[in-house]
Amino acid sequence: MQHIAFIGLGNMGGPMAINLVRAGFSVSGVDLSAEALQHFSDNGGRAAASVAEAIQGADAVISMLPAGRHVEGLYLGDDGLIARLPAGTLVLDCSTIAAHTARGVGRTASDAGLRFLDAPVSGGTAGAAAGTLTFMVGGDAANLEAARPLLAAMGKNIFHAGDIGAGQTAKVCNNMLLGILMAGTAEALALGVKNGLDPAVLSEIMSKSSGRNWALELYNPWPGVMENSPASRGYSGGFMSELMLKDLGLAEETALQSHAANPLGALARNLYESHVAEGNGKLDFSSIVNHFRH
Ligand code: NAD
Repeated sequence: MQHIAFIGLGNMGGPMAINLVRAGFSVSGVDLSAEALQHFSDNGGRAAASVAEAIQGADAVISMLPAGRHVEGLYLGDDGLIARLPAGTLVLDCSTIAAHTARGVGRTASDAGLRFLDAPVSGGTAGAAAGTLTFMVGGDAANLEAARPLLAAMGKNIFHAGDIGAGQTAKVCNNMLLGILMAGTAEALALGVKNGLDPAVLSEIMSKSSGRNWALELYNPWPGVMENSPASRGYSGGFMSELMLKDLGLAEETALQSHAANPLGALARNLYESHVAEGNGKLDFSSIVNHFRH
């Protein structure tokens, strides 16, 4: 497998596609943003003018799009990719979308003879750039084996979660926990600062104590505590609050459908709902800390 079509070169897709180029694959990328396309071609990728051009001769297609409606728009319908790709093509959707949407697209793709996997990721933009993402894969084990060289060029941990859609279910559980942890970390830091503590000192104490967690240690929400976190660059270039809100909504939908209780996930969703409504949707999700800084 040599030629890959990559659709969606945003905060995550851009660095993932560049890592495939660095691993020696020939990658044709496409995005609606001219800036994203330019960045990709500056890093050795082939910028395609259209999806049709990108998929020409592709052994595999990878998509990394914002939400379910974009994924359905790309793959389904008379003009969609499923109708245009030759049977046997490997299709990996790495976007975070509802498990039922992944199952719908996956079923249509499988019926057309395509080898579909849902393969959402965790690890943030830093993990995408470093090629250390975690992939949570749903679909046939043989298809996962065929995709493994691609996934290994972009990530470090590759998990087979189950059938098509299972990767998305794992991802939604993970991101519900992440939203809760980020809001909780922000609340604890704001409480300490309000009571005279230095946020860097408090972060160091908690990261060596039982409050230790990923948001605190690797993605600190307080500006200036971590040199490379989105908080230290005006909450730009990370994981947008509107995407976290989408994921918390997916968790709530999943909980409703399966009659599961998710009180903390629902609270985090409400916090992000007001945060986004106040005009912070494009800011990194760690900007939720501003909610607690009064
Ligand atoms: P993003 O908005 O930065 O990137 C999405 C890109 O898709 C944009 O550049 C947009 O122009 C492009 N696009 C949209 N529709 C298109 C179409 N029809 N054809 C071609 N390009 C199209 O978002 P992102 O942060 O890269 O996130 C992508 C997905 O990954 C989301 O589902 C998100 O939930 C998930 N995710 C993000 C992170 C993160 O830290 N940013 C981490 C894990 C998972």
